[in-house]
Amino acid sequence: MINLKKTKLKLKKSIWIGLIIVIFICIALFAGLNIYQNIKYKQTNEYKLLQLGYTNEEIQLFTELLTEEEITSLTEANKDDFFVAVLQDQYFIKANLDRYMTYHDQNENRSAREVVSITNTNSDYPRYDYNIETDTSKDYLLLVNKYYYLNEDYVPSDLVNISNQYYYGENHQIRRIVYDAFIDMWNEAYNAGIYLIINSSYRTYQEQQSVYDSYKNTYGTTYADSIAARPGYSEHQTGLSIDIFSTEYTTTSNFKGSPAHEWLVNNAYKYGFIQRYEENTEEVTGFAEEAWHWRYVGIEVATYLHEHDITFDEYYAYFIANE
Ligand SMILES: [Zn+2]
Repeated sequence: MINLKKTKLKLKKSIWIGLIIVIFICIALFAGLNIYQNIKYKQTNEYKLLQLGYTNEEIQLFTELLTEEEITSLTEANKDDFFVAVLQDQYFIKANLDRYMTYHDQNENRSAREVVSITNTNSDYPRYDYNIETDTSKDYLLLVNKYYYLNEDYVPSDLVNISNQYYYGENHQIRRIVYDAFIDMWNEAYNAGIYLIINSSYRTYQEQQSVYDSYKNTYGTTYADSIAARPGYSEHQTGLSIDIFSTEYTTTSNFKGSPAHEWLVNNAYKYGFIQRYEENTEEVTGFAEEAWHWRYVGIEVATYLHEHDITFDEYYAYFIANE
């Protein structure tokens, strides 16, 4: 009887010991696993980026826009706020990333916005030194500037004559779609007491050549480049651009800020026109401000450009070029 009691007690004791050992092993396993996971996590890019000071939001952006290799290289340097700002820019183009960073290295005082603008429009290359024959299938959204050119033979297929009513002189032409929009706009301006007058419209390659050459022969290339586009690089060859003045303000020096100009600034987009070379955009467009030079891009794009602070060159790079 006593022996049986002793055996029972012994059994109870060893169950308890067994249980304690099992619990101990479980705790050890759990702790070990935790330590292992912790070591593993510390090797991840996410951990390293957080340690460098990047936010979760920024890390999320990296995983959306960058390759694993590119993210890894970020973990090997200090936090780069400029790099983040470039990625966050509304008009960031992945294919230009290396060029953004190269331009930034050479121009450290530039903001991310400026670097994206300049690079997207190829303005990080010298003008006329990075030439792309423009894609005329973009129709009235085609781009012509000091990088994108039209070849010598390009003539728009739907040129129409402009009535003398709208023009100083005669035998001047413009694309049909532009003429129709211009007449609508002209009527609306006329109702507002403004008499718009076209002073220059479609120009052939050869006409542009003679304009450019006459400046070049008299004043040299640098001066010629500052006031006229080289042949093939003038928007006037597209048949989409017109130089507009009014009966009261007829010169390039007095048109800016005139009632007609103010009216165009506030209303031309409704008819699909934009002032192509605005104040402070020369770095991107390649042209100093021209209050009189209006380009047809259609109502949708003109409205976008009216509401956003970018040039057509930037719009083209982001929305049109790779469509
Ligand atoms: Zn012009």
